[in-house]
Amino acid sequence: MAAANCAAELRRRGAEGSILLVGREPEPPYERPPLSKEYLRGEAERADAHVNPRSWYEENGVELASGRNVMSLDAAARTAKLQGGEEVSFGQALIATGANVNILRVEGAENEGIHYLRAFGNSDAIRADAEAADRVVLIGGSYIGCEVAASLAARGTKCAILALEEVALSRTFGAEAGRWFQERLESHGVEFHGGEELEAFEGDGRVRAVVARSGLSLECDAVVVGAGVRPDAMLAQRAGIAIGEGGIECDSRLRTSVEGIYAAGDCCSYESVVHGRRVHVEHWDVAMQQGLHAAGNMLGDERDYEVVPYFFSDLADWASLEYVGPAQDWDEEVWRGDRDAGEFSVWYLKDGRVAGALSVDRSEDLAEARRLLADRVDVSAARDRIADPDSDLASIG
Ligand SMILES: Cc1cc2nc3c(=O)[nH]c(=O)nc-3n(C[C@H](O)[C@H](O)[C@H](O)COP(=O)(O)OP(=O)(O)OC[C@H]3O[C@@H](n4cnc5c(N)ncnc54)[C@H](O)[C@@H]3O)c2cc1C
Repeated sequence: MAAANCAAELRRRGAEGSILLVGREPEPPYERPPLSKEYLRGEAERADAHVNPRSWYEENGVELASGRNVMSLDAAARTAKLQGGEEVSFGQALIATGANVNILRVEGAENEGIHYLRAFGNSDAIRADAEAADRVVLIGGSYIGCEVAASLAARGTKCAILALEEVALSRTFGAEAGRWFQERLESHGVEFHGGEELEAFEGDGRVRAVVARSGLSLECDAVVVGAGVRPDAMLAQRAGIAIGEGGIECDSRLRTSVEGIYAAGDCCSYESVVHGRRVHVEHWDVAMQQGLHAAGNMLGDERDYEVVPYFFSDLADWASLEYVGPAQDWDEEVWRGDRDAGEFSVWYLKDGRVAGALSVDRSEDLAEARRLLADRVDVSAARDRIADPDSDLASIG
């Protein structure tokens, strides 16, 4: 996502140098959100998710090396070694190596039918297994577990979610909003078992049950694990580029510790001038925006990355959410709109300022939340206006 957008922006802005885009997956760069949504449900084709059509790369003079690894980078010599031994030199580089899923190494993990979801092939395998399953168990109460449960249940598969958190999606959105989403899932037949820690998988070569530490046992024929991801900073680390908890450490302009090498998307964190702290998120829109932004800085813009991170998620066609933030923590929630009608926003305030905002069918609120967050406006005196769905948010700040 980040790399393909960076290449496209470089060409759009008239960059004339050669561009090589190397990716280890066989597919040209693609968007992952459909893998747990319309593609998983069989409502979209692979090509619908391609960032650019296959022909775009040749037409725009971008050499696409799919199905190939970058084995190493020599930051001082400005060369990259590709799988097969070829060495290429570069003037500037973007590292956009994404993230790897967390693998749960518990007893029984070797059984067949235990899936993780990151690439097209995973989505295909989940769909095939779900079609033959009496019940699928999802491990994880965050967006992958909830989205996949919704997509499979919408196609008629019985689903149960086992989650560490008491309430679905509560880590990002809090318990009250999380309950609203959980009720949506439950009203469509998805079971939710919160506050449960996975102990083991049981099976006979194929997974047959998921067992929690509490003793709860959920029979199933397939499992999908959505237990988070880790930034893939391996290539950068081996090249001596500074990394930290959120992956490759960028400054406010997405520059890594090595001059001329940028990073973008899931693999990195950046010094956010908007938040006044280091930020790492794994959002589709951020990977795209950062790819575009890095291209601009490669061309000499010298601009800080100031876009407020945006995230969206769909639970089949039962609920769509959008979010700006990310709120590290908050001390107050202000609700606006009608939760029974499924049209509301939740404002997460910290010390009287907007730290994040969630919207369900009130996208227009998010634009205002984004502005107030970026400008760090003290909204303590405007709580009533935020809570009143008819008041004009543009008048705040
Ligand atoms: C199922 C699913 C659903 C999602 N849904 C949403 C959503 O609804 N909303 C949202 O905001 N976000 C969503 N996301 C997250 C979003 O897809 C990611 O934030 C986005 O893909 C990040 O883009 P990226 O370019 O940073 O990394 P990636 O898309 O992961 O691309 C990185 C690529 O680099 C390759 N690579 C790594 N190392 C090397 C190497 N050494 N040599 C060559 N290639 C290498 C990887 O194989 C990968 O192909 C979802 C993710 C998944 C998996």
